[in-house]
Amino acid sequence: MKKSFEITASDSHSAARTGIIHTAHGPIHTPAFAPVASQGAVKALPHSMVKNLGAQLILVNSYHLYLRPGIKIIKKFGGIHSFISWPSPILSDSGGFQIYSLTPLARIKNDGVEFSSHLDGNKIFFSPENIIQIQQDLGTDIMMLLDYLLPYPSSKKDIQEAVRVTTQWAKRSRIFLQKNPTSQLVWGICQGGIHWDLRRQSMDELMDIGFDGYALGGLGIGEPKTQFMEMVERSGSHLPKHQPRYLMGIGYIKDILRAVECGVDLFDCVLPTRNARNGTLFTSTGKIVIKNKKYEKDRRPIDKGCSCYTCKNFSRAYLRHLYERQEIGSAILNTIHNLHFYLDIFQKIRQSIQSNSLGQLKCSIINEKVEEE
Ligand SMILES: [Zn+2]
Repeated sequence: MKKSFEITASDSHSAARTGIIHTAHGPIHTPAFAPVASQGAVKALPHSMVKNLGAQLILVNSYHLYLRPGIKIIKKFGGIHSFISWPSPILSDSGGFQIYSLTPLARIKNDGVEFSSHLDGNKIFFSPENIIQIQQDLGTDIMMLLDYLLPYPSSKKDIQEAVRVTTQWAKRSRIFLQKNPTSQLVWGICQGGIHWDLRRQSMDELMDIGFDGYALGGLGIGEPKTQFMEMVERSGSHLPKHQPRYLMGIGYIKDILRAVECGVDLFDCVLPTRNARNGTLFTSTGKIVIKNKKYEKDRRPIDKGCSCYTCKNFSRAYLRHLYERQEIGSAILNTIHNLHFYLDIFQKIRQSIQSNSLGQLKCSIINEKVEEE
C-alpha cells in the first residue's frame, strides 16, 4: 500500500476531516465530489467546463467502457486520460453495480461473474483479475475492486454470501496485484447491506488484505434512511482513520453532510447531472422544476445567490423555453448550474471543516431546504 492520503484538518465536533488524496494526475482535496462520466464524458458538458466548475476528478465506468468503445481502443490511445483528454484524476468503478442492475441474470461464481451484455445479450465473464487488468489498461488513478452487490431487500443469508464472495474476490485481486504491480490506487468495496455484523465483517476482511482506501457499497439502494445512516456512522468509526473513505452513489445533500460528519471523504452521484437534463434544478431555497408553467415569464435566474454562468446570464423563462423546445442548450445550461451547486457546496464543506464551522454550514444548508426527497 502506498501512503496516498493525508488529513489536513479535523472538525472538533464530529469525525469530519479535510484531506488530500495524492494521485498520479494530481491531488484531490477532500471531502470531494466526483461528477459521473460513465462513458468518459460528463453528459452535456465539455471537460473544460467540468474543470472550471471545480471538479477535481471524474468517475468512469469499467463495464461501460469495456463494452464500448472497448479497452483495446482506449489502450491504443495510451489510456483513458489521453483518450478522453482529461489530465486530472480519474476514478474507475469496477462495474459491479452495473452488472447486477443492468443484467438481472448475472451468475456469481467463486472466480467471477457471468452475465449477458445489456446491449446485445452476448455472454461476458468478469473475474476480479480481469476487472483489475481492465482498469490497469485504462490507467485510471483510483481503481475499484469487483464486488458482489445485492438489491434491497435481500435475505441476510444471501448478503452473507455476497460478503463471502466479495472477500474471496478481494483476495484474488490482491494476488493478481502482487504479480502485476501498479502505481494506481486500489480501493476495496465493503458490502453487508444493513446488517452491521456483516458489514463489519466485510470491512475487517478487506482491511486484513489491505487496500489504499475503502468504499461503502450497497447502500442508498432503497433501505430505510435510519438504517442507511446507522451503517455510515458505524462504518465511519470502524474504518482506518488514515485512509480515505468513499460512499458510493449517494447524492442527497443532507446525506452527504451527515456522511461527511462521519468521516467520509469521497462521493459520486448522477443526481446533479441527471436532474439537470430532466429540468430539475437545485437552489438554495429548494428544487425548481423548470418546465412548470409558472416560470413562463419569470425573469429571475434559477438562484439569485448563484454565481454560475447560467444564473448570471439567463432567466428562468428562457431556460423553460429551451427545455420545452428540447434544445441541447437546455441540458448544457442546467448541468452547469446543478454541478456548480454541488461543487460549490463541497468547497464550502472543506472551508467549514478547516474553520471548524461545519455545524453552522450544515444548519444553514438544511434550513434552506435545498432538497426534498
Ligand atoms: Zn447557477
